[in-house]
Amino acid sequence: SGRFFVGGNWKCNGSTASIKQLVNELNSASIENDVDVVVAPPFLYIGQVIGSLTDRIEVSAQNCWVGKGGAFTGEISADQLVDVGVKWVIQGHSERRHVIGESNATIGKKSAYALSKGLGVIACVGEKLEEREASRTTAVVFEQLQAYADEISDWSKVVIAYEPVWAIGTGKVATPEQAQEVHAAIRSWLSEKISLEVALATRIIYGGSVNRSNCAELAKKEDIDGFLVGGASLKGPEFVSICNAVT
Ligand code: 13P
Repeated sequence: SGRFFVGGNWKCNGSTASIKQLVNELNSASIENDVDVVVAPPFLYIGQVIGSLTDRIEVSAQNCWVGKGGAFTGEISADQLVDVGVKWVIQGHSERRHVIGESNATIGKKSAYALSKGLGVIACVGEKLEEREASRTTAVVFEQLQAYADEISDWSKVVIAYEPVWAIGTGKVATPEQAQEVHAAIRSWLSEKISLEVALATRIIYGGSVNRSNCAELAKKEDIDGFLVGGASLKGPEFVSICNAVT
């Protein structure tokens, strides 16, 4: 549903020099017209990227503060992201949930605040290996979705990223069937809990060990509307191949 959407999540990687090179590679690439492309640099390099990257690609943050700015040492507000030209923010990434300890409730609030300031939100969900093995995948994902739904009323700028935790940074990509099954379940959930309209319009993208060799098979699946790419997004030519996977 909707245009294919590919995000590159650079996580806590890169330097002035390596990001300069990556931006050059992206600027000279030819990306198909019918795909939305977004990259998410670390906060420190957002200015550099916005100042040098082609307008063809939008810039996302990887996180933001839960509300308006103020006395919150070390945080960055959605208002500030908008001020410098950022268009998107990733929320609820598994590393923020499981390494930094963000709760479902905080993630929902952050997402609603970011949307209220005009940012698009890449709303991440995904189960851990032990949850999958205990047949709790959809229960966990639906609980995470409900926490977003508790706070979000307008879904038009939300992209849902299904990222099974066991597939992130492990080289163990979900099979196209495994991913499709959860994407279809997410779409049914949206249809039941939000509306049919939102279910049909919302992009549901897959993340977790996506690379240039596995992206084409995943992209063929009915409910896979794009990707959120980690490691492979740090290599310009490979990321561009993934962006062009749908064609
Ligand atoms: P990898 O592509 O490195 O597995 O990371 C996926 C991810 O977490 C994107 O947000």
